[in-house]
Amino acid sequence: MSAATAAPAQGAAATPVPPLIELRGITKTYGQGATAFQALKGVDLAIEAGDFVAIMGPSGSGKSTAMNTLGCLDTPTTGEYRFRGVPVQSLSRDERARLRRRYFGFVFQGFHLLARTTARENVELPLVYRGEPRAQRHAAAQRALEAVGLAAWADHTPGELSGGQQQRVAIARAIVTEPQVLLADEPTGNLDSQRSHEIMELIQRLNRDYGITVLMVTHEHDIAAYAHRIVHFRDGVVEQVQHNGAAPAAQGAA
Ligand code: ADP
Repeated sequence: MSAATAAPAQGAAATPVPPLIELRGITKTYGQGATAFQALKGVDLAIEAGDFVAIMGPSGSGKSTAMNTLGCLDTPTTGEYRFRGVPVQSLSRDERARLRRRYFGFVFQGFHLLARTTARENVELPLVYRGEPRAQRHAAAQRALEAVGLAAWADHTPGELSGGQQQRVAIARAIVTEPQVLLADEPTGNLDSQRSHEIMELIQRLNRDYGITVLMVTHEHDIAAYAHRIVHFRDGVVEQVQHNGAAPAAQGAA
């Protein structure tokens, strides 16, 4: 996976590369009239390729709404969302779905694996939707399972795996399409502390070694500490952006 670089045209001033993700004045209103509720009230956020951002905030502060917007699962009511410079709000539903499938991988708190299906088949699923031939699916799934340290478990069903292993299968499924962005919604919410840190070390490695941009919602400060930046939401706005000096593992390596 390589980050795209823009070569400036000869004789012309270098065009600045737009951030990977740019939110400007994003609002989201649910419902209409007297029951309307504004979940996002004007969010500005720029995220560069390769960044690792944790989103924190009290329940109801707009984190999920922001994640759904960022992941092209939902559209804002007003404001501008540019992904790689492309105004997402001007895309059709199908174009948005294509953009989502091409550039995003999703990981959820609850793993969402198919129970009677092997780890490999679970990981292959996004490639089945893409219509990739069987042999290629198989090889890509095996590579993704290797990347999460589960190559030897490819033929096991989720019921035969621990919670931490199941989440690693879900991460393999999220990265099998080689996404540019990994969106993780409380990825450690169902795991004990040791498994949580193992999962975070894996996500950190994907960010560092593959350059995958990570956007993650979490309630835990020690989990958010893996990120480069922590964006705090409150009442539908970004209240504060906190820069982490270095993520835990990077501190040791520096
Ligand atoms: P968080 O993820 O921080 O808990 P959400 O983004 O889920 O916050 O929700 C923000 C606010 O928007 C909450 O008050 C919630 O009740 C409201 N909300 C979220 N989704 C909907 C919806 N589909 N319809 C109406 N209100 C919603």
